[in-house]
Formats: sequence, C-alpha cells, structure tokens
Amino acid sequence: MEQKCKYIFVTGGVTSSLGKGIISASLAKLLQARGYRVTIQKLDPYINVDPGTLNPYEHGECYVTEDGAETDLDLGHYERFLNVPTSQANNVTTGKIYQTVIQNERRGDYLGKTVQVVPHITDEIKRRIQILGSSGNYDIVITEIGGTVGDIESLPFIEAVRQIQWEMGDDNAIVIHLTLIPFLSAAGELKTKPTQHSVRLLLESGVQPDILVCRTEHPLNAEIRRKVALFCNVNVNAVIESIDVSTIYDVPLVMLKEKLDKVVLSKLKLAAKQEPDLEQWKEFLQHIKHPKNEVNIALVGKYVELPDAYKSINEAFIHAGAANECKVNLKYVHSELITDENVSDKLKDFDGVLVAPGFGGRGIEGKLTTIRYVRENKVPFFGICLGMQCCVIEFARNVLGMKDAHSTEMDENTKFPVISMMSEQKNVTMKGGTMRLGSYDCNLTKGSLAYKIYGKSKISERHRHRYEFNNQYQKDFEKNGMSLTGINPETDLCEIVEINSHPFFIGVQFHPELKSTVEAPHPIFVKFIKKAMEK
Ligand code: GLN
Repeated sequence: MEQKCKYIFVTGGVTSSLGKGIISASLAKLLQARGYRVTIQKLDPYINVDPGTLNPYEHGECYVTEDGAETDLDLGHYERFLNVPTSQANNVTTGKIYQTVIQNERRGDYLGKTVQVVPHITDEIKRRIQILGSSGNYDIVITEIGGTVGDIESLPFIEAVRQIQWEMGDDNAIVIHLTLIPFLSAAGELKTKPTQHSVRLLLESGVQPDILVCRTEHPLNAEIRRKVALFCNVNVNAVIESIDVSTIYDVPLVMLKEKLDKVVLSKLKLAAKQEPDLEQWKEFLQHIKHPKNEVNIALVGKYVELPDAYKSINEAFIHAGAANECKVNLKYVHSELITDENVSDKLKDFDGVLVAPGFGGRGIEGKLTTIRYVRENKVPFFGICLGMQCCVIEFARNVLGMKDAHSTEMDENTKFPVISMMSEQKNVTMKGGTMRLGSYDCNLTKGSLAYKIYGKSKISERHRHRYEFNNQYQKDFEKNGMSLTGINPETDLCEIVEINSHPFFIGVQFHPELKSTVEAPHPIFVKFIKKAMEK
C-alpha cells in the first residue's frame, strides 16, 4: 500500500519539562521551511477529556483552537512556530480515548467481545493519530507523546506507536526520543547513564528510538556522542545535541545546525528538497536579540506565580516587541495586592498595563483599581476577556455612578449587571467544553481605535467565556464615552470596548494572544507596544 503521510513520534525520557513541545515545533518548522506540509499533534496521558477543566496552576494556560477545542498549551507553540492553525484533532487525551471506546461499547459496537486496553484502547489511539494523516492535508504528522517514558499512563500510547511502526515500516514512522545528559559538577563530567536507562525503558515496550535528541548544558564531544549511539543502538549522526539557548525561538536554528531535519528526512526516505527558507525567522531573532528600544509592561492578573498560566500573552509580547524592535519587559503584578492606596506606587513605572483573563472573583477589586488608575492617568491600556469585562464594571461604577455594578459571575444579585451570563449559557450545567469557544466574526466601527489597529472592518478572533457585555446598558456607556466598537454580526454580542478620549484604551472579549505568531504578530499587541514606546 502506498503510504501518503509519514509519521514522526516524539517521546520523552529521564525527566519531564525537557521541552518536547519546542523540539517538535522546531523540527516541524524546519520541515515546513523545506517545503513539506507538516502538522503537530499532542497526546496527553491524563484522564481529563480536555485541559479546559484544569486549574491554570495545574497545567498552565488552556489554549483554544479555531474550531473551539480547549487544548494543551503546547498547541500554542505549534501554531506560533508554524503559523498554521491546529484543530480538535491535534490534541488527544486518555479521557477522550476512553470516552469514545466506552460510547462504542454502550452502542454495542464490540458486541460479544471483552473490551480491553489492547486492542481497543490502542486501536482508538492509532485511529486518532491517523485522522490528521489521512486528511490529505499533510505530508508529515509529528505526534508528541506527553509525559515521560515509564509512566503507567503512557503505556498504551507507546504500545500504539510500536504497532504503527510495525505496520507501516521504519521508512514511514520513526521515533525521536528526547532525553537529558546531565552534567555532574563534582565529577566534572557529562553523564550518559540516565539516557541509556531511559532508552532501555522504551525498548522494554518494544520501541527502538531512531533518533536521540539530548538536552545538555554543555556541548557533547565526539566521544560522548559515540558512547550514547553505541549503548542506545542508534547511528552516531542520529545523536542530536540540544544545548541550552537563551530563547525558545533559537531552537529551530540549533536543530538545523545539528541536521535534525536532514537525519529525519533520510530515515523517512524523503527528499531534502531546498535548504530551509528561514529568512523571516532570522530577522525576527535579530530583532529580539538586538532591540533598539525598551518598554515596561505590567500584566495584572491573579495566576502570577506560574508563568505558564499566561503563556500565549507572554509570547505575543515577544512577537510584538520584535515587530517594534523593542524589548518588552513584562512584569507580573498580583491583582490581589493592588489597593487604592498603593496603585500609583505599583504602576507608576510602567509604560503600559494589561489586565489578564481569568475566572472567579478573587483579585477582581485590584483589577478594577488598576483600570481606574490607567483610565484617569491616560496610561496605555489593554484588557483581555475578564480584563475587558472589568473595564465595563469600572466604568459603570466610577463614571456612570452605578454603585456596586458587577458581573453576575461575581455577584448574581447585583443591581447593575453590566456583565451578565450569555443567554445560551443559562441552561448549561456541565462544565467541560461548554463555554463560548473558538472563532467568531466581529465587525469593527469605522474610525475606531480597533479599526485603525486592524486596518479593516471584518475580523475573526477566538473566544473562551460564559459572560458578556449586557446590551441593555449600551446607550449609557456610549453617551458617556465608552464605545462598543466591535460587534458580532450574528448575535450582537459586544466584542470590543474603547474610551474615545483616552490615548489607548481597549478591552476585548476575545483572546487575541492565541493568534499571535512569529510570522504574524497580533496587531493589537503590536500597536499597544508602539503606544507604550511613545510614552
Ligand atoms: N470569567 C469570564 C467569563 O467566563 C472571563 C473568561 C476569561 O477571561 N477567559 O466570561
């Protein structure tokens, strides 16, 4: 049978957090830059059906795709590197696999059979892996297996990889194993033993890795490479050094230097085609490494202890900084610690302030105090999702005189529900996957700040929320200087608010950070930084 799509599996060993997502995205970037159509998929071994129900402290940000999947934050890296959208099919969890198998069983699909991990769960994993490949849209699918080899939860995934490789042959499916070569300072040496053990664990499951990518703080000399190759049973040129770098955006170039893409292509019996075209990427790197300006931006939110909770916002600022040849010093400010008394002290040194997305009432008053401060002091301001809703609440309370105005998320019985639950949400009782999710159209008012920023009147952005601006109050806001400048054409939902008399004050109900990529930095972030630079 002719194999149309080729598969690359990326597993991890020795320890978590080695950066499988970044390695996968970097390899994909190189293959894309050589002219291949590539996508990346993440298989997560946890039992949650999706990470939408996970607290950001547990698992970092929840990334939302165009088609409304709530996914792992690695999908954000994939999109930022490849500049191609991902979808529902790009993130599969153990929860999703079991949900499908159990539904099949209840429907009677396996009638008479005992439903087991092998073959039923592994078959469903294989089916999910091949959905992307059989779409005809890709030449290569890279599948990253979450977790670390040896974890109980990952066993069925590794078994599925073994079977796919056996069925398709080594030319059509390869395995890259990411490991760590630690440096023992007492011995003054790099140590290969953890890698050997980790490969042995993989071998116990019947999988021989084809390529080893070795994370290291020090260069690997020829002797170390040979030792790893010999004891792990791979070619010497398939031992790839992945040395620590100052930015994740360096990794594709580091992998290019190590010829990871060439080794992969030769194993898959694919032509190397052209040398990778990475001109735009290199220019971007040049800009982040040699900025001409610098700005200080405050991110006011409540999940500040874990930087991954605001991953996409963080990256969007890096893209926007590069576009302005400006270094963005992003500082997280805990909203719970902001009070009327200290707000000016806490925020006076910033050139711009962003109020972050979030859920629930904790830290809300600090966000409102922040917004009052930036509104009155004309500091460039950008509010996202809950941050936009807070703009509305603050304006209602302090400009429209609606004392105690609130969102019904925080106060169900508020006298002034300026933010209220969307009607389609009112009968929703299940938490998972039930918010307003994914991409929706929005029309911008000509002449507004938003219109100037985007340079067009029709946009589409991604959402993740249950509450909305309450249109009953529209006139009160418009009359007093807060304009609704972005409206969903089908539902009339307000997507953007602005203050006309302020140099830069914009709140958006959607999540622009999710669409910012290296090659297409998001225009609101770009213009926000530009304005902050003027300050
Ligand atoms: N909690 C708010 C809502 O559900 C905002 C959500 C968010 O910031 N993503 O509408």
